[in-house]
Amino acid sequence: MPIAFPNSLHARDVEYLLHPVTNARRHEETGPIVIDRGEGIYVYDDEGKGYIEAMAGLWSVAVGFGETRIADAARRQMARLPYYHSFSHKSNEPAILLAERLVRMTPERLTRVFFTNSGSEANDTVVKMLWYVNNARGKPEKKVILSRQNAYHGITITSGSLTGLPTNHRDFDLPNIPVRHLTCPHFWRYGQPGETEEAFTDRLVAELESVIAEVGPENIAALIGEPLMGAGGVLPPPAGYWPRVQEVLRRNDILLVADEVINGFGRIGTTFACEYYGIDADVLVLSKQLTSSYAPLAAIVFSDEIYQGIADNSAKIGTFAHGFTASGHPVSCAVALENLDVIAEKRLIETAAEKGEVLQGVLARFRDHPLVGEVRGLGLIAAVELVANKETKAKFDPVGRVGAYLFNRGHEHGVIIRAIGDQIAFCPPLIITENEIAEMVARFGRALDDTAAWVA
Ligand code: PLP
Repeated sequence: MPIAFPNSLHARDVEYLLHPVTNARRHEETGPIVIDRGEGIYVYDDEGKGYIEAMAGLWSVAVGFGETRIADAARRQMARLPYYHSFSHKSNEPAILLAERLVRMTPERLTRVFFTNSGSEANDTVVKMLWYVNNARGKPEKKVILSRQNAYHGITITSGSLTGLPTNHRDFDLPNIPVRHLTCPHFWRYGQPGETEEAFTDRLVAELESVIAEVGPENIAALIGEPLMGAGGVLPPPAGYWPRVQEVLRRNDILLVADEVINGFGRIGTTFACEYYGIDADVLVLSKQLTSSYAPLAAIVFSDEIYQGIADNSAKIGTFAHGFTASGHPVSCAVALENLDVIAEKRLIETAAEKGEVLQGVLARFRDHPLVGEVRGLGLIAAVELVANKETKAKFDPVGRVGAYLFNRGHEHGVIIRAIGDQIAFCPPLIITENEIAEMVARFGRALDDTAAWVA
């Protein structure tokens, strides 16, 4: 995007903003695309160009852009009580109602809620909660967290340590908490030649058992996992993975934390992915579609056992000294309540499975495309992985150059996708219609053909 006028928004962005997850030097040359407004599945830049938001922002705007009911709910709450905190016995109505609603929506074993502002803070909080409880239980050594390669759990010091993506660690001195990253459960990429999907699951379970034996179950607090991995490349687990993993964890007194920050609220076609995969988690982490990202909010929903451990220790030492200025922010919670009403009334969870089949069906047509190695996904989340060689699955060198080209061609064709290296992700708003899915994928197809011509 040319920087036309010295005083334009583009020029001032380049002058003053450091962008998250962006090559800052390249940004100085290209400048930003300034998104000005949104409506349904579309966002529009400040020159009026429309884009289909095939990623729902950052995997989050379930109800689409421009949902005035949520804006009205926020305005009502702002006018009544724009802010209050939840420290030292204070509370507010939206936080109470939302906590109750989340406990009712989630499995029976999960009985309490703690609010944070972001998924990263939520995962940091989970680790602190478990350490706090284990110290109180007289098990101060039980601190290690198991995670997986290519997992994404956030970017703060602790959640970034749980994340298993080298790019989020590099030059940040991460990981810096006791964490072990297990093999990424993506059969197509990490299955060995001749190995069946079942045998791959067996190998992952055997690895889990052997890491537990090596580290010692008495030293491991929990395993954290996204039921279906998102930012690592949209990676559904192999058949039978979760029940097997859960059985091993139970046997070794290791808790299971399900990070449903992307999966939660219908993304894969069930309210929570735990339902779909048969996961009985001790902790559920929710964000993104909780408010459709109209306001920042995350929720940790956890078992009574953890709650009792925290409550006892807070009584013993005087307080549970953890929380954020905006924990249980009344406006964010009011936004979440209205957002959940919209999701329920528009039956967005029920219809996500059907619309998901349409999405997976049309994307499957790219399997024969010369640049495409794998098409994968579930419900309304999917990825198309580009490879240099379809037979050997060899990656492009350097990884990400072709994906970046396709990403930019997508803008030209009016679709915003996400390039995770050369894995192209789709995660459209749940309100998307079948016709809009067809249009989104057609735009992507044109960008992919441009890319094939460029690569050739
Ligand atoms: N967990 C998962 C599964 C995520 O996908 C993300 C963000 O993409 C996070 C945690 C971190 O959330 P936030 O960006 O709100 O800190």
